[in-house]
Amino acid sequence: MVKLKILGSGREVGRTAILLESRSGEKLLLDYGVGFDENDRPVFPLHVAPKELKGIVLSHAHLDHCGAIPLLYTTYSLPLYTTSLTAELSNLLLNDMLKISGYYLPYEDVEIRKMMRNVQAIEYGESLELGSFRITFLNAGHIPGSIMTVIEVDDKRILYTGDFNTVSTELLRGADVYSVGKVDVVIMEATYALYNHPRREDVRRKFVRTVLEVLNEGGKVLVPAFSVGRAQEIMFVCAEEIPEYPIYVDGMARQAAEILAKYPRYLRDYRRYMDVLERVEQVNGWDMRKRILKKPCVIISPAGMLKGGAALFYLKKLYSDPRNAVIFVSYQSPTTPGFRILEEGTFELGAEKLRVEARVEWFDFSSHCGRRELINFVKRFSDAKIVLVHTEPEGGVKFAEYLREMNFDVEVPEIGHEEDL
Ligand SMILES: [Zn+2]
Ligand SMILES: [Zn+2]
Repeated sequence: MVKLKILGSGREVGRTAILLESRSGEKLLLDYGVGFDENDRPVFPLHVAPKELKGIVLSHAHLDHCGAIPLLYTTYSLPLYTTSLTAELSNLLLNDMLKISGYYLPYEDVEIRKMMRNVQAIEYGESLELGSFRITFLNAGHIPGSIMTVIEVDDKRILYTGDFNTVSTELLRGADVYSVGKVDVVIMEATYALYNHPRREDVRRKFVRTVLEVLNEGGKVLVPAFSVGRAQEIMFVCAEEIPEYPIYVDGMARQAAEILAKYPRYLRDYRRYMDVLERVEQVNGWDMRKRILKKPCVIISPAGMLKGGAALFYLKKLYSDPRNAVIFVSYQSPTTPGFRILEEGTFELGAEKLRVEARVEWFDFSSHCGRRELINFVKRFSDAKIVLVHTEPEGGVKFAEYLREMNFDVEVPEIGHEEDL
């Protein structure tokens, strides 16, 4: 029997951590991420003893998948299997978290460096043997470098999707679902279990129309965006559709954009990407930051939910003029400044509560499957047991009920859940 234990992401979106144990007692860890509570305090998955693990597979660089991995390197060394791009991006995001976290983190840069030294770089389509596990890595289409993992152990074939997107974007090819083959168990994310994303072309068209309206009236546009993936996706749209105005990219999005340029094989169209990179201007300091605000322009900058970063500086400069706009391009979690601006039109500056006079918009440039894509994906695996993780409790349970009506064997385990597959 193969054992499955949910150490994190059971009925929650965040701190992903899945443990598999073979008949002979060998253990493989899939992701080990961090979550944040309502006070923005880091929350970690259930404990696992690193010396009991054969290795770790990291699906992608987002902190809700990699943010707790350095914890496993405080006293021990073990191999970390991931793409070299994910390793480099994780290094960037982990060090940034260490720098800006207002709370104590139970590891330091020493552990991040040790983690990086233990990376075993893998490629899309590659397979390897690790004790009784045979592991194959496939493109997940979620962010650059992201993987889905097929694990063969004892007599079971298990797919772990990580975060995935079956729809191609400007930046990435959709997930490689065609290479998965027949599996007994699918452990999959269901972030948008109840929600259908609008068509990508429509989102892109409406976004461009809005941005141009603002610029043509003499306003400036701030697009708060996650550093990895989303910022570059918006760079694509702006660079190709808005040739008349300057497009700036700031903060960690710049560093992430430069890292991506070193990995042509992970991008859908590398030549196009390099053209885009040439077209946008990188903001390289405070002088430039102040100077660019004098004329209509688009500024793409983290943090995506306005929790910090250069985006906050721009917000303070732009919020009071109704000609300007703040355009969100990702989900805003309820405890963030971005959410408050969308819901109430206000933000806090020290003790002051300020009203945002600038135009505020939101566009759904998701990098996850929506409900429709999740259903089409599950239909490929009618004989498999489906395990839903990385999902809101209500959404996950309702989605499972819907799938059961179609005769699927589905569960939505809670954190701590353990079972024989
Ligand atoms: Zn992710
Ligand atoms: Zn995630």
